[in-house]
Amino acid sequence: MDTAAPPDLFDAESRALQAARAAYDTCAATQPAPCHRALGELLTAYERLLRETRRLVRRSDRAELEMNQLNLRLQDLAAELEYRATHDPLTGVLNRAAVIELVNSHFADGDIALIVLDIDHFKRINDSFGHPAGDRVIQAVVTCLQAQVPATAHIGRVGGEEFTVVLPGQRGDTCGQVAQTLRSAIEAYAFDLPDGSGVTASFGVCWLPRGSNFDIAYGLADEALYVAKRGGRNQVVLASGHVHVQPA
Ligand code: GH3
Ligand code: MG
Ligand code: MG
Repeated sequence: MDTAAPPDLFDAESRALQAARAAYDTCAATQPAPCHRALGELLTAYERLLRETRRLVRRSDRAELEMNQLNLRLQDLAAELEYRATHDPLTGVLNRAAVIELVNSHFADGDIALIVLDIDHFKRINDSFGHPAGDRVIQAVVTCLQAQVPATAHIGRVGGEEFTVVLPGQRGDTCGQVAQTLRSAIEAYAFDLPDGSGVTASFGVCWLPRGSNFDIAYGLADEALYVAKRGGRNQVVLASGHVHVQPA
């Protein structure tokens, strides 16, 4: 770290002052008294001016430092606010508003596959083991999704126990396989519920080309999800209505 003192802003003035002070001290005998007295007063006034100016500069430096620190804090708070406005506090994934914005902005550029999944019989978990246990299941489902989704995917929580996985640019014929991987991962996960029971989820999947929008995609995927629920749950249904994977 550089510990050298900063250069004196008023170095030239200090030296001029020193020279004038030395002249004042030595020329009393050679100069007329009024001139000598005037120089003394000038020196006193200039010294005071220099002290006052140094004090103002120090105060302004401190104010600048505080302003910079406040500015950094403001940037941190703005980032935190942005995060809170777009993320679900329980799981840390995107919230519904952020998913809608993300999907609509991706549709301006290209195709999207949208997976909608909903935990099966989740009310039973809350009713049997309490709300905090239900919350932990929601978090664990997100952990499963995060471990399995492709790097380009975006996970969102769009309802209490309903999630989306947005797959930008994903080919229509592969998104069903991604959903199947997620379904299997949730089914196989050790949720550690008191009765040792497992958790499953039902999936609706749709794929739409560039130019579409969230409402259309979500409507189609949600319809497919409804078919998966009616079909017995723990399964993946593509928006075409074709049951892609039935559980064993
Ligand atoms: P289905 O298989 O048809 O989806 O049945 P379900 O029981 O999963 O669905 P239902 O809509 O009947 O119940 C969902 C429950 O999820 C009701 C609600 O109290 C609960 N829930 C919503 N948000 C949260 C949350 O943040 N934490 C917890 N623990 N429960 C939640
Ligand atoms: Mg449910
Ligand atoms: Mg639901």
